[in-house]
Amino acid sequence: MDNCIFCKIAKREIPAKIVYEDDFAIAFLDISPCAEGHTVVIPKQHFEKFTDMEEKDAGNLFASVQKVAKAVEIAMDAPGSNIGLNNGKAAGQEVPHVHVHIIPRYEGDNGGAIQSIVKTYPKTDNLEELKEKIRESLR
Ligand code: 5GP
Ligand code: ZN
Repeated sequence: MDNCIFCKIAKREIPAKIVYEDDFAIAFLDISPCAEGHTVVIPKQHFEKFTDMEEKDAGNLFASVQKVAKAVEIAMDAPGSNIGLNNGKAAGQEVPHVHVHIIPRYEGDNGGAIQSIVKTYPKTDNLEELKEKIRESLR
């Protein structure tokens, strides 16, 4: 995509601190890190949302994500990391090119778990119904 900042990074048209590259993906340091070592991994091909990707492309991306996450934890001497993506604008995605965040984590760093992103306290007496609805939506 012509006007996509992450496509431009993938094509080396704008600079980034690239930590990893393979045929399918490229990883670089986030320009505005929420923790030291915060890294993003992107597919070189432009997809807007993770859920737009074909299964094989998503698989390739996550193989690279795992490799980079291991390296980030080692390099940052981090005993853990949060690995995830904001899928769509409603979920906080600002750059409309799929990217997986790898955020190094430490005991006592005052960060939260992934479940702390949103708390709408939904009812739980409809789990059976929801299970069926999601199962019926599988493609
Ligand atoms: P999102 O909210 O879309 O999941 O996160 C986008 C991330 O990309 C943000 O953490 C932001 O700091 C990072 N980012 C945005 N523009 C650039 C850029 O030009 N270079 C780099 N390295 N990171 C960027
Ligand atoms: Zn793009």
